[in-house]
Amino acid sequence: MSTPLPGLPSLVEVYEVGPRDGLQNEASVLPVQVKAEFVRRLLAAGLSTIELTSFVPAGRVPQLADAEELLALLGPLPGRHPVLVPTQKGLDRALAAGAREIAVFASATETFAQRNLRRSVAGSLAMFRPVVTRARTEGLAVRGYVSMCFGDPWEGPVPQAQVVDVALRLHEMGCTEISLGDTIGVGTPGQVVELLRGLSAVGMAIGRVAVHFHDTYGQALANTLAALQAGVTTVDASAGGLGGCPYAASATGNLATEDLVWQLHGLGVDTGIDLDALVRTSVWMAEQLGRPSPSRALAALAATSASPSAANEKSC
Ligand code: MG
Repeated sequence: MSTPLPGLPSLVEVYEVGPRDGLQNEASVLPVQVKAEFVRRLLAAGLSTIELTSFVPAGRVPQLADAEELLALLGPLPGRHPVLVPTQKGLDRALAAGAREIAVFASATETFAQRNLRRSVAGSLAMFRPVVTRARTEGLAVRGYVSMCFGDPWEGPVPQAQVVDVALRLHEMGCTEISLGDTIGVGTPGQVVELLRGLSAVGMAIGRVAVHFHDTYGQALANTLAALQAGVTTVDASAGGLGGCPYAASATGNLATEDLVWQLHGLGVDTGIDLDALVRTSVWMAEQLGRPSPSRALAALAATSASPSAANEKSC
């Protein structure tokens, strides 16, 4: 049973970040065969947009050091399967591995740009420009991430003008989609709507803007709903809430795909995802990682399917 609300899209593209953003931030390093199995299970559950991995310099992200092997194991896949690429060399590797879409990861704040990319904001955009230009020439789609859109752990609240400026520069250099990241999960719905208004005001099409919320402060679903009502139709999420949050002392980072899909289906919004199959996939992945998932929808659904009568008898 679903009950719609006015002003929502009929279909939302769930952009699955578990294999890249999720696994990159998990302490365990999984065998490449397990990662390939994870992607195959996600595809079978109806997730057709999956960010697979990252072509960063060897040693920078040990969890994703097997990018070439993973793409070779997977072979050609239906749907959208971007890979993160920071540099020209990364793009060479991604193209050789058969990637058809890439993503670049920019920051709205100077401190995070320095910490993550060892460059200023302007310097990092200058690094991305030839990567984006060449990727587009090669016929690839390019997603541009803007991280720290609402708050930064070192700089505090982030002025909206900074975010709009970085998003616009990524758009102007050729990015085909912009993903707004609340990297520390501090944003609230009014801020989300204001930022989307600000981007609209400089001519950006909101239909090409995605949102990437973290649930650190429990705001991810409220922020998502506000973004959908403001015209967004692509939402980033991580199966089982994989990834934690490396910039806050919290187990809760990426919005869990199960929590998102529960809300969307409850609203009558189509995603193409089989939630039961997704839950089975995340339960399996939690076993591989040896830690429970922080997703509340996953916990509830996994408990109900294991013992529906026991779940119903509990008064909670
Ligand atoms: Mg994230």
